[in-house]
Amino acid sequence: MLIILLGPPGAGKGTQADRIVKNFNLAYISTGDILRKAVKEESALGRKAREYMDQGQLVPDNLVVEIVRERLVEPDCANGALLDGFPRTVDQAVFLEKVLPETKATIDRVLLIEVEENELIERLTGRRVCCDCGANYHVKYKSPKVRNVCDQCGGDLYQRDDDSLATVTERLEVYKKQTEPLIKFYQERDLLYTIDGNKDIEDVYEQINDVLKEL
Ligand code: ADP
Ligand code: ADP
Ligand code: ZN
Repeated sequence: MLIILLGPPGAGKGTQADRIVKNFNLAYISTGDILRKAVKEESALGRKAREYMDQGQLVPDNLVVEIVRERLVEPDCANGALLDGFPRTVDQAVFLEKVLPETKATIDRVLLIEVEENELIERLTGRRVCCDCGANYHVKYKSPKVRNVCDQCGGDLYQRDDDSLATVTERLEVYKKQTEPLIKFYQERDLLYTIDGNKDIEDVYEQINDVLKEL
């Protein structure tokens, strides 16, 4: 079983993913998290990916699809996985369809989380992330109990380099040009379910739960 989370940067994919993987017992695959880890470790992948990420551009498809190909065959994916931030181009989606027989998985649902643009900017520029466990916070909407300290692990919170206003604007443009075509792609395959992501975190989760509980 594969569930795909689709939606612009800041839509709340990571926030919802956290609860989805726990409640539905799915492996979590976030290409963004994997790439940030590679950058931090200065691996070969990280060195290639870094400048694209800093500029708010997509990392080239050939690098990203290899990450996913390797990740999908890991044992924890046997029960199913949640893909967050992949695919992000039509070419990546076509690749995924091609490798699925190898992994014996099928795509069950694609959840499109829609949020208005002003709200996306507000969410991204206010986002804070734990440098140890990657948990997400927001200065207004989801603040930690102690300022700049992670509730889950006590790690320090930081602002991602690409969450600056200039890079956020670029990322939203990139989403429209390169990722939005996937909406039609998955509509044609009858897999797309639209979630109103403008609501509060709890309400958005309820909508997602309604779509997934019948699986
Ligand atoms: P994405 O993974 O889609 O880029 P995140 O889950 O990281 O998005 O959310 C972006 C920011 O918005 C985070 O700071 C998060 O705490 C906040 N956020 C997520 N969902 C909501 C919501 N429904 N209402 C308000 N803020 C939210
Ligand atoms: P967000 O949901 O906030 O946009 P992510 O953490 O998913 O952020 O991605 C951060 C960055 O990592 C992207 O701006 C892009 O440079 C790179 N990235 C992540 N996933 C992909 C992907 N599937 N294809 C290409 N680049 C990706
Ligand atoms: Zn933490």
